[in-house]
Amino acid sequence: MEPERPFDPAFEAPVILDRGRHPVSRRDIDPDALKVLYRLSNHGLTAYLVGGAVRDLLLGRRPADFDVGTNARPNQIKKLFRNAFLIGRRFRLAHIKFHGGKTIEVSTFRRKPDPEELEAEREELERRARDEAEAAAAAEAVTETAETAAEPQECAEDLPEHREDPEPPDREDAPLPGRRPGRPPIKPIAFGTPREDAFRRDLTINALFYDIATFSVIDYVGGLEDLELRRVRIIGDPDESYAEDPVRIWRVLRHAARLGFSIEERTAAAIPRHRERLSACPGSRLFEELNKDIKTGNSRPFFEAARAHGVLPLVLGGFGAFYERDDAAFSRLTALLAAHDAAVASGAPLPLDVAYALLLWPWAAPLLPALEGDKVKPLYDLFRETKPAALVPKILLYDAVQTLAIVEQMIQALETGKMRWSLKKRPHYPGASQLASLLLEGSFGEGEDPFAALYDRKFGSSHGPGPRPSASGDDRPRPRRRRRRKPKKPAPPSDRPA
Ligand code: ATP
Ligand code: MG
Repeated sequence: MEPERPFDPAFEAPVILDRGRHPVSRRDIDPDALKVLYRLSNHGLTAYLVGGAVRDLLLGRRPADFDVGTNARPNQIKKLFRNAFLIGRRFRLAHIKFHGGKTIEVSTFRRKPDPEELEAEREELERRARDEAEAAAAAEAVTETAETAAEPQECAEDLPEHREDPEPPDREDAPLPGRRPGRPPIKPIAFGTPREDAFRRDLTINALFYDIATFSVIDYVGGLEDLELRRVRIIGDPDESYAEDPVRIWRVLRHAARLGFSIEERTAAAIPRHRERLSACPGSRLFEELNKDIKTGNSRPFFEAARAHGVLPLVLGGFGAFYERDDAAFSRLTALLAAHDAAVASGAPLPLDVAYALLLWPWAAPLLPALEGDKVKPLYDLFRETKPAALVPKILLYDAVQTLAIVEQMIQALETGKMRWSLKKRPHYPGASQLASLLLEGSFGEGEDPFAALYDRKFGSSHGPGPRPSASGDDRPRPRRRRRRKPKKPAPPSDRPA
């Protein structure tokens, strides 16, 4: 007789919902992701849709991205897809590129890294996050202006380099070459079974698989039950999981906030024991997480959850601490974030730098009046001095503070009736116009230049695109005066005969 063992979900049979018993339909799966799944499957390989996509499809939401898990090794994947690029050194993922810049991420099932493997994995994650964050910031960055050109060194460093990682060894157990001379070679990550792959993930609701061969949903970790109960739960022991990767605290808060789910008791109770670790996480990774909440229009609920669980100062330094202690500023922030989230939901998201300007405004507004002269650099420096752990790329921060400096002038102009319309020439003017409209009117306004429309309604004047400096300081354009031609000088007397 077999010895009895204690209940351990790691050994239980998975719950399998066959096609008639779940709502996931291939119609809702990205066609390119389907192509990838079918090609793997047609070659006799296991091919699952994994991660957040399965969760979202089960909830009837549109997934942000479609990731694929397979038992194919990275080099096999590369051979199957001409458009596959292998990235990463330690755990190699395939990025299958499609038209329009779409990428389907395909990763080989792997097991939980052992403690030795963890550090290298962290470095890997950091490097990828840094590359992705920089690429995102550079892509969104407003065209360089004369002012941004004044900071060429800072900005140039932030631009990503496109680079392919070196060819991997073919065998799983072959060591990867060390990165620096004298350093020991890096052991490649150990691949795993689908079960092991489920257990290495963060949340139960993020560890569900959809099998393209049988159209069934496979659950090793109790994610289906948690979806049913509308709760977010860490897989395994939360203390161990957060210690292994503190960013999971952020992910717990995100998913609970985004889905309106509760946080399971043990998952929540362990947060205060580990949240301090967040501030030691790589800044680029934290920025990437922050960006996700901003871009997906989930910013208000996330900031509320982050404040409630005491993580704002840990990820955003003095800037986050300000929002944690100042109730009034935080409620101004949440109102702004709600407007931003609504803009994302309506399919008209703000450019990233304007979204960051919005995030900064309630903090910056009381500081701006005390700054003299060109306020951009001092405000930029003040933000840096708050030492946020999340590393906002310099170019993005610089764009955001330029927007804020214009917004401040707009708000003053609406009181004084004196607007420097020369600011219209700046690339940050349109974003500032939208943000000023939100602050003054409660909405981003209609049309290209909602601030000018507001100004016109108040002062009944038109304004032109060009600079119109005047002694009075009122730069409003004035009606063009006709220049009188100078009277022609009488022709000099000529002694030539007529
Ligand atoms: P989103 O809708 O924001 O994309 P997601 O759950 O898909 O949410 P991703 O960041 O795209 O999140 O990650 C894909 C999957 O990778 C997750 O669903 C989860 O299974 C796994 N994962 C991501 N981050 C971690 C982590 N820190 N620890 C363990 N597993 C993770
Ligand atoms: Mg995802």
